[in-house]
Amino acid sequence: MKKILMLGTGGTIASEMTPDGLSPELTPAQLLRYVPGISSIAEVDCLELFNIDSTNMTPAHWVAVARALREHYDSYDGFVISHGTDTMAYTAAALSYLVQGARKPIVLTGAQKPINYDSTDSKLNLMDAFVCACSETVHGVCIVFSGRVIVGTRARKTCSKSFTAFSSINYPDLGILHDHRLMTYIEPAVLPRPLFFDTLDENVGLIKMIPGTDNELLEYLLERKDALLVECFGVGGLPSYSDDRLFETVRRACDAGKFIVVTTQVQNEGSDLSIYQVGHRLKGYRRVLEAYDMTSEAALAKIMWILGRTRDADEAARLFYTPVANDILYRG
Ligand code: ASP
Repeated sequence: MKKILMLGTGGTIASEMTPDGLSPELTPAQLLRYVPGISSIAEVDCLELFNIDSTNMTPAHWVAVARALREHYDSYDGFVISHGTDTMAYTAAALSYLVQGARKPIVLTGAQKPINYDSTDSKLNLMDAFVCACSETVHGVCIVFSGRVIVGTRARKTCSKSFTAFSSINYPDLGILHDHRLMTYIEPAVLPRPLFFDTLDENVGLIKMIPGTDNELLEYLLERKDALLVECFGVGGLPSYSDDRLFETVRRACDAGKFIVVTTQVQNEGSDLSIYQVGHRLKGYRRVLEAYDMTSEAALAKIMWILGRTRDADEAARLFYTPVANDILYRG
């Protein structure tokens, strides 16, 4: 039998009702008792890293999960991480940069309804997660949810209530599960030994453009952040209004050594700054990077990982456009 380490972090799956609403209470060992079938496919050890609503996750928590994976990597065949759904896609993206090229499955899962509810999705998701963690064809970081196996850099929570909570953005599912049987469509590439990292630059922000976005807001963020993701409209661009002041703000930030990552607020198909004048001008700025078909979650985690290693504009661009865990396909 495969040896699997289950890392508990909290979320709805582990929640119980309190007078103030749902709150994570159950340990990973208590969760396992609800799904006795798991003991027939895996020998499981449990480690409770934290027990929080994933709303409270920070980059420091991502690093703590990555450190636990590094510490226990050699002792187990695979890993299941139980996690709240709200920020699971961010954690999956971050872990994809902090633990690169792993052959062993690192499977995140959770649920929309607590495990002690009659109408729960927790048991199905947990069993499926263990099936994937025991498999020979799932590699590296992925989310297993509602019968889908989604690559960690491509996941997004797209339903706030339905069981089909996660989608794979601009990339196919790695596989599907029916009746806990796995069919793998894509086997991610692996390294002889994974690369582990534990430094992220947390000083990264995100702004979503709205019609009439105020230059002062952009200035405020760029003065304080090392990098800023700008979720533009459509394929991407900055409003020039009548005086080009947003472009001027971006230029000054680049001169001050900041990075701007242009991404799109449109969920599917990604950015392409070369198409319109409002975008094309940004391509001339050395520290402006373009997310193309990456998700904002992945672009955010990737720039945090990159700035944890270098501030050099050329090296940062090289790392940003080098695919990691299938995060980027289209690059203009
Ligand atoms: N608020 C919960 C969390 O993200 C939601 C969930 O787990 O489904 O921890």
